[in-house]
Amino acid sequence: MKKIIKESVEETQKRLQALTEKINRYMKQPWSIYQKPFQIADHLYYVGNSYVASYLIDTGDGLVLIDCGFCETLYQLIHSIHLLGYSPTDIRYLFLSHGHFDHCGAAGPLQKLSEAEVYIGREDVFFFEKRRDLIHFEDHTPEFPIHGCYDYERPWRIGSTVFRFAHTPGHTPGCTSFLIETTHHGNPVVCAMHGGLGINGLTYRELDEAGLPRSLHQAFYEQLQMCRTWKVDIPCPSHNHDYDILSLAARVDESRDCFVNPDGWSAMIERKIQQYLPLL
Ligand SMILES: [Zn+2]
Repeated sequence: MKKIIKESVEETQKRLQALTEKINRYMKQPWSIYQKPFQIADHLYYVGNSYVASYLIDTGDGLVLIDCGFCETLYQLIHSIHLLGYSPTDIRYLFLSHGHFDHCGAAGPLQKLSEAEVYIGREDVFFFEKRRDLIHFEDHTPEFPIHGCYDYERPWRIGSTVFRFAHTPGHTPGCTSFLIETTHHGNPVVCAMHGGLGINGLTYRELDEAGLPRSLHQAFYEQLQMCRTWKVDIPCPSHNHDYDILSLAARVDESRDCFVNPDGWSAMIERKIQQYLPLL
């Protein structure tokens, strides 16, 4: 991480090129990142691919989907939802963590299919209205309507599930994290997904080039401090490289309790803080 901030122009270009090549490979060969869906809690399922997560929640009053992945992996998402015995046409709300293509690339066609209401953090709306270049790979992100923005002050009960939304800026200005109050074996549990722990894009050089405020650097650190205190029973990462939920899923046949990890959330956030601390 220290390396990332101190790197030369050439090193930045090289890093971004490597990332672009990896993403292009995923989009050209989406089958290479296919992930079988799995159940995490009574009404919560993983339906993402092996690179980027999507979570399906059966609220009892319609389905909620958090993030929808690449446009190129939409067929997998639809297949996964069917495999779990649900229909994508029953998605009532699509909650997006932030405006990057790997989390919202499929939102356009999925919204047309499901007629779901799409929500995103208010401070990411300008990505779609004015700065489509900030979506990255915007050509791979068909347009979609935005029906609402999160109210960070108020929990939202949908059926049996309570959603709390937290503004966690840094990775993008409107990046949003989710606390999901649901049940596991009938007992109340809190699951949480952090919307964006990626430091890519947060170097001053990248912020300046994107025309984004340098204050996002400090904002990222401050929201990590805030999130670290959350009491979370089941951490749900937005990318598996932040918290290895896919390894846990490999043990799901033994016990569905494998996802319960009361220390996992704060440990994940703490790791990120320790990476980031020397840079401030
Ligand atoms: Zn992102």
